Amino acid sequence: MTSTVGIIGAGAAGTAATKALHASGVDVELFTRTGEQPSNRTLVNKGVAIGLLEPHQAALPDGGVVPTADTVRAIDPRTREVRLDSGERRAFDALVIASGSRPRILDEEIIGRDEAVRTGRLTTLHSMADGVRVRDRLAHASPARVLILGGGLVASETASLLTDAGHDTALIARSLVPGASAIGEPAARRLLDLHQPQHAAYLGRSARSIRTHSDRVAVVLDDGTRVEGDLAIVAHGTAPTAPAPWTGPEGIPVDSHLRSLHAPDRRIYAAGGVAVHHYPGHSAYRIDHWDDSTAQGAHAAQALLHDLGMAADPRTYLPVSTFSVRIHGHTLIGAGHPALGTSTRIVSADPLLVVHQLGEVPVALTGIDATRLVHEYLPELHAQVAARR
Ligand SMILES: Cc1cc2nc3c(=O)[nH]c(=O)nc-3n(C[C@H](O)[C@H](O)[C@H](O)COP(=O)(O)OP(=O)(O)OC[C@H]3O[C@@H](n4cnc5c(N)ncnc54)[C@H](O)[C@@H]3O)c2cc1C
Repeated sequence: MTSTVGIIGAGAAGTAATKALHASGVDVELFTRTGEQPSNRTLVNKGVAIGLLEPHQAALPDGGVVPTADTVRAIDPRTREVRLDSGERRAFDALVIASGSRPRILDEEIIGRDEAVRTGRLTTLHSMADGVRVRDRLAHASPARVLILGGGLVASETASLLTDAGHDTALIARSLVPGASAIGEPAARRLLDLHQPQHAAYLGRSARSIRTHSDRVAVVLDDGTRVEGDLAIVAHGTAPTAPAPWTGPEGIPVDSHLRSLHAPDRRIYAAGGVAVHHYPGHSAYRIDHWDDSTAQGAHAAQALLHDLGMAADPRTYLPVSTFSVRIHGHTLIGAGHPALGTSTRIVSADPLLVVHQLGEVPVALTGIDATRLVHEYLPELHAQVAARR
């Protein structure tokens, strides 16, 4: 009998899982949000926001299965039944949840937040619609003054893209060393050195209130500084998003084979930005990068095929995919995840290569202009753990 698998989400992880399962002869139904064109989210800032691409040019190829555009509202873990926006219900032999993440927004205590959002002068930068909103606002003022609230990779990369495009950009970050929690302090300090000659940076500060005027937005920081722009972009990272009953901010915890720990033995898997991993003996973490989400989608598919008796055991999922971003003419590259509790070891100062270790085990790499070194070092990641599997 052919097994049927439901896949929720057609981004990096969902598309990879679909391709792998479809190629193995499994019947797949792939769900996207109602009215959504599955797209490559990495192009929201690099393509659409800066006017290089129209949203349809960032569309993803369909992976061999025509998606069902009907948002999954809820999952019944017991029966593996999904309830759809249209009111329909479908039951599956297995499910892969690949619903990704949503952008964190500014706290609601920030006075004036909702008015700034309503007028389009305050936006996140996550969906294609966000990209179009930024593009259209930039087109009204050339050069535009853009405030970027956040210090992670999307904030840094967007500051660099907009500066290169001739806009007057300011970065506002809560941390004194933006990005340190995501990529470790050594690489984050180097990034800061790259930003500072290029544009204003208000560090160690956060927004206290926002005032929207007919032609601009003014953000008042917690030290009283007032910064004005045509547009303010919030890039405060992401939180996982999943259908009920797992809509909370904690995402979907998974085991070493990406099986959902919320529903053990129910053949429900999670991959990509929604999945929460547990490295042996250490803290939980998520990896919200494109190539790693793709790798997780493929791994979840293999684990599922294994559990259905159709494939070999893919063994423990260990993150080794690389990610890279261009920032002010330099390439920040990394692999793995520097989870809480990692120590850092600088292997090379110039170009910078930092190894993040849990005890003696290298679990992540970050480097600047160190693409070759990172690739040379990749086989060392998790090596001892992999040998014990
Ligand atoms: C502006 C920006 C730039 C980025 N640049 C980079 C980069 O340069 N390099 C990099 O590695 N990463 C980058 N990322 C991160 C990368 O895009 C994500 O890590 C990746 O998209 C995660 O893949 P995913 O499959 O988990 O989620 P997504 O790609 O977000 O896909 C999830 C899909 O599921 C759909 N969905 C959600 N809920 C439901 C539901 N209930 N029913 C049906 N469908 C649903 C969503 O609408 C979405 O289409 C960037 C992110 C942003 C926002």
